[in-house]
Amino acid sequence: MAEPKKRITSSRSGKRKSQIILKTKSLTICPTCKEPNIPHRVCASCGYYKGEDILKLSQKAKAKEERRKAREDEEKAEVK
Ligand SMILES: [Zn+2]
Repeated sequence: MAEPKKRITSSRSGKRKSQIILKTKSLTICPTCKEPNIPHRVCASCGYYKGEDILKLSQKAKAKEERRKAREDEEKAEVK
């Protein structure tokens, strides 16, 4: 097995680890929903990127609501 040629001193690893720091991410404001989001990424709250609906969240929510209503109607029909 490969062995390290020299011992890494605690000072040297400390110097390396001093560079691992938390950096604050810059955020932009989404032009469609005005929520803060990461630049060059699809907005997590509205699913838009460059004015285009990428995730189609509103359509998915509508479809989900329709499915829920259909299920409720079925359950009502079974009770009667
Ligand atoms: Zn948005």
